[in-house]
Amino acid sequence: MKTQHTATLDADTRRRLVQAATDARQHAYVPYSHYPVGAAILTASGNIYDGCNVEIASYGATVCGERTAAFKAVSEGERDFLAVAVVTSNGATPCGICRQVLYEFGPQMHVIALDTEGNVQWEGPLDELLPHGFGPKKLAEGQEAAQE
Ligand code: ZN
Repeated sequence: MKTQHTATLDADTRRRLVQAATDARQHAYVPYSHYPVGAAILTASGNIYDGCNVEIASYGATVCGERTAAFKAVSEGERDFLAVAVVTSNGATPCGICRQVLYEFGPQMHVIALDTEGNVQWEGPLDELLPHGFGPKKLAEGQEAAQE
């Protein structure tokens, strides 16, 4: 079990996080995929930031729910993510781009992927979804090595 990760989430916080993701999903703008996603991120300050996916007719401009939540948090001064809940029809885990963005601010964060019935389809640490991830720490190490 991943007790070191779940320990940061008491039952009430977990319930609020999942509810925020579920509610955010209602705002998804998905005229092309018809695949609404709701996400909610818990930060070290105890705040929860939610987000939904927003699709654009020029598809490349589309943003996922997880990144919407992440950028809302960062734009409010948050830099330390503890957990994310993601709600989709089938409980899918975050896509590769979102894994990378989440890793930037929470390489140890806890991920909960739920379906719309509230069933957990996947749960665990982000580094299981993005093993050997590249983040700020690796970049700094590489820069130091280059200066030697
Ligand atoms: Zn994504």
